[in-house]
Amino acid sequence: MAMYPGATRMLLGPESRQPAIRPTQLLMHSIVAPWDARRLHAYWRDSTNLESHFGIGYGGDVGQYLDTGIRADANYRANRRPDGTGAVSVETASNTKASDPWTAAQVAELIDLGVWVHRTHNVPLRICRSAHDPGFGYHSLHRDWSPSGTACPGPARIRQFHELVFPGIVAAASGDKPGGTTYEVQRDDTLYEIARDYRDVSWQQIAAANGIRAPYTIHPGQELTIPAGKTSPSRPPARTVVDLSRLRAAAKTDPPKAGTPVSYAGTLVVELALVEDGLMERRYADGHFGSKSVHGYSLHQQRMGYRGTQPGGAADGIPGWDSLTDLGDRHGFTVVA
Ligand SMILES: [Zn+2]
Repeated sequence: MAMYPGATRMLLGPESRQPAIRPTQLLMHSIVAPWDARRLHAYWRDSTNLESHFGIGYGGDVGQYLDTGIRADANYRANRRPDGTGAVSVETASNTKASDPWTAAQVAELIDLGVWVHRTHNVPLRICRSAHDPGFGYHSLHRDWSPSGTACPGPARIRQFHELVFPGIVAAASGDKPGGTTYEVQRDDTLYEIARDYRDVSWQQIAAANGIRAPYTIHPGQELTIPAGKTSPSRPPARTVVDLSRLRAAAKTDPPKAGTPVSYAGTLVVELALVEDGLMERRYADGHFGSKSVHGYSLHQQRMGYRGTQPGGAADGIPGWDSLTDLGDRHGFTVVA
């Protein structure tokens, strides 16, 4: 049973008596209407019982309509499976053709919600490989999630899911758990994916700590010792990598308007670091290295002592090696040239 602190509670009465689920997935939808979270609540209450747990308006307003431990009805066979597992679902405001991209505020809220679902329900940081596979997805990803086929949430948002939202969840949530604990293996887990959740622990270290040798087979229910992480020169392979030359190209070419394709997904990793440093507002972290990102990056360079904010100056907001590795060292990503 869980309520998301980032949402306004707008609980639906009758649906709260639906059966319990153990959440293993987060599935994203478009509602095909430009509604805010409150209007969505009225729709669930008055017009249909095919509700989702959450709704997100264009402005990033988030409503929670059902406890995540209760079945929601938007995901067909993923609502609740015979084994009691089920999907957490989130509807998002869209135009009436579901053809528009998520706004920057919606992307930011989907990432925050995804991190919360990952931490609260142990949903693994991967895209669902099958209809029952634990992880993250969108409505049309698997046929079993819709009775008659669907294009939901629409092609523009499916691209954002792959380029921005899912990488953003991974970037924000990876490596945040301390080691020195145990973990019970879930179905379809791999050592690589388990290690990605822990700070400074590689999959090879987990294999060694448990006497597991090639081909590194693990079984559901198996209890693994997760060693305490040590910062070492050989970083775990799952650490996020940001390519300086691709980032610089994005910073010089990205259009200032949201909703255009993202030229380099690593941009979001850097933007989230600037947000954490208090140099940029969260709602502008959208994967585009536009003017807000350039400005935030310039503030970071100035903090490091660089001067000259005019184009070509040392603090012009275009990333360089020293300023980017400083950001990466403190925010957990590796820079390559
Ligand atoms: Zn849908």
